[in-house]
Amino acid sequence: MKELRNYIAGAWQSPVKNQWLDNPEPATGKVYSRLPDSTAEDVQMAVDAAKKAFPIWSAMSVEERSHIMLAIAQEMKLSFESLAEAESKDQGKPIHLSKVMDIPRAIQNIEFFATEILHMASESHGTKGVLNYTVHAPIGIVGCISPWNLPLYLFTWKIAPALATGNCVIAKPSELTPLTATMFAELCMKAGLPPGVLNILHGNGKNVGSAIVEHPDIRAISFTGGTVTGEHIASKAAPMFKKLSLELGGKNPSIIFADCDMQEVVQQAVRSAFTNQGEICLCGSRILIEDSVYEVFRDAFIQKVKQLNIGDPFEDGTNLGALVSKSHWEKVLSYIQLAKEEGGTILCGGSPVHPQGRCQDGWFIEPTVIEGLGNDCRTNQEEIFGPVVTLQRFSSEEEAIALANGTKYGLAANVWTQHLAKAHRIAHALDFGIVWINCWLIRDLRTPFGGMKDSGVGREGGFEALRFFTETKNVCVKF
Ligand code: NDP
Repeated sequence: MKELRNYIAGAWQSPVKNQWLDNPEPATGKVYSRLPDSTAEDVQMAVDAAKKAFPIWSAMSVEERSHIMLAIAQEMKLSFESLAEAESKDQGKPIHLSKVMDIPRAIQNIEFFATEILHMASESHGTKGVLNYTVHAPIGIVGCISPWNLPLYLFTWKIAPALATGNCVIAKPSELTPLTATMFAELCMKAGLPPGVLNILHGNGKNVGSAIVEHPDIRAISFTGGTVTGEHIASKAAPMFKKLSLELGGKNPSIIFADCDMQEVVQQAVRSAFTNQGEICLCGSRILIEDSVYEVFRDAFIQKVKQLNIGDPFEDGTNLGALVSKSHWEKVLSYIQLAKEEGGTILCGGSPVHPQGRCQDGWFIEPTVIEGLGNDCRTNQEEIFGPVVTLQRFSSEEEAIALANGTKYGLAANVWTQHLAKAHRIAHALDFGIVWINCWLIRDLRTPFGGMKDSGVGREGGFEALRFFTETKNVCVKF
């Protein structure tokens, strides 16, 4: 059985307390590796290593840091196939998706911030006899905590801007998906990242996650995960005056107007609902459809959903793989049961799947479409984070906006209409950090990324991320 280790001070380390966690493969339900169940003692070791590394890393020129990060990206390219295989085995997603989305994007994250840092400028403000200029200095040691749905993709999305700006990082991937982060550490060693600049600790949130959040020498926390966890982290970090970036849950609407390109919408709505088994914070899980095209959309959508293949992530042609864990699988099934109790009609799916062969004990669920529920029920208010979507009708722009905005979340919305003015009107009225018009999940890494309301605090991406990982200082010179 594979044994993963923590990566501290540029070397592999077993957990101080010698406690371990099992890591099962979601597609088979069988344990295939174990990982450290790290504690505050391991965090202290990582902080000590980061303290030693900080003067070296922060003193390097941006060109030198950029050069090392580009070397890491190059190593990732050389390990592309094995990273993609590891991601699918660990997370349950189709291998095709790892190859077209997760691993390319993880590489792009490193390349993007390695080069963006070369273009980060500081401001100056001149007036008579006085010059103010602003310095963006690294914070020091920062913590990055990432979830299991897009493991290496979101892990690198956080650590890349942190490293580029000259910080040393203590990072924790989800305990459910530790594999690619561990492989990433190996590639960092090969690429010549100085020891202690990046330290990767495995283990569960309650132990090692909390110890990272509460360590007084870790001065900023960048977290992506559930809203309840985000609230808990904020309650611990805010009284310590740490910088906080929180990317949290969503309950995203797809808003479909009668004047849309229906063929394109049906195709994209299936993608937005079920990519990665619906385990993407940006997935459209509430589909709102204008009355006059409700039946047309519903019938075409159901027909397409029924064509999706569920099964072994390593088989060609699989569209939906396994859900990440048994407990998450049970949670999603319990929401399907809840939807029935709330009066919803299951139009397709709704059941667990047990594929024949090696995956018969894996955690699979049919893509599920539900209609007949009001916006206020729990099914339409709570994040399910699985292959489950609901359909609702609306009869006016005002009603569409009210339904879309009618949850505590505000992460992402997608809107489908050929009417230009209407598209802009709706986009401005929506309380979401990201609005896609006639598309879904097109990402330009320079744009601000993040949610409103209970979907988070702060923005990632582009210069927003570089600014988050720096302290801003103004210097005023009289001459
Ligand atoms: P969790 O909130 O359960 O966990 C996220 C990370 O936080 C994990 O590494 C977890 O560790 C860790 N963690 C848990 N408890 C604590 C704690 N008390 N202190 C510090 N760290 C802790 O989320 P999931 O992993 O279940 O991810 C799914 C959620 O992430 C969904 O709600 C989804 O919407 C959201 N998400 C948001 C995105 C966005 O950009 N807004 C993008 C992707 C996902 P461990 O797993 O070991 O317990």
